[in-house]
Amino acid sequence: MDDRELQSWVERVSLSSFGRPFRHQARFNKRLQSTGGRYFTRSHDIEISWRQYEQYGPDDVEKIIKHELCHYHLHIMKRGYKHRDADFKNLLAQVGGTRFCRALPAAPRKEPYRYKLVCTSCGIEYLRKRRLDPKKYACGKCRGKLKLHALDLSSRP
Ligand SMILES: [Zn+2]
Ligand SMILES: [Zn+2]
Repeated sequence: MDDRELQSWVERVSLSSFGRPFRHQARFNKRLQSTGGRYFTRSHDIEISWRQYEQYGPDDVEKIIKHELCHYHLHIMKRGYKHRDADFKNLLAQVGGTRFCRALPAAPRKEPYRYKLVCTSCGIEYLRKRRLDPKKYACGKCRGKLKLHALDLSSRP
C-alpha cells in the first residue's frame, strides 16, 4: 500500500459511498499518531495515519477514509463539516465512518496478576500485578496482616 494506491482507494470510496468524486490529494502520513486521519480545509487534502493502517488494517482505515470524506464533501458543499454539526453526524452514520478521527489508543497490554495478598486473619485475597511489601499494607476489611504469594502463571491460559 502506497500513496498512489491510497489515492485510488479514497477515490473509489468517495464514488461508491458518497456518489461524488474526490478531486484532491490523499496521502499517508508516517508520523501521524494522535489521529487516524486529517482533512485540510485549505488544500482539501486528506492524510491517513500510516500507523493506523499497519496496526488495524484496511477495514478500519476505510472507516477513517469515510470520516475524512465526510469532512471533505460537506466542506465543499458548504454544509456543516465539523464534528459537532448535525450534517456531519448524519452523513457519517449514513456511510458508516468511524465516529472519531482520534486514533484508537494502542491496545493496552493485558498484564496478568502475578501475586496475591492473603489476609492472615480473615482469609480474603487481593490480586496484584506487581510485587509489593505486604508489611506496608493491612487488610482492607479487617486491618489484619497480609501475606504475599506468587501465583503460578504457567498453569493459566
Ligand atoms: Zn474528523
Ligand atoms: Zn482481613
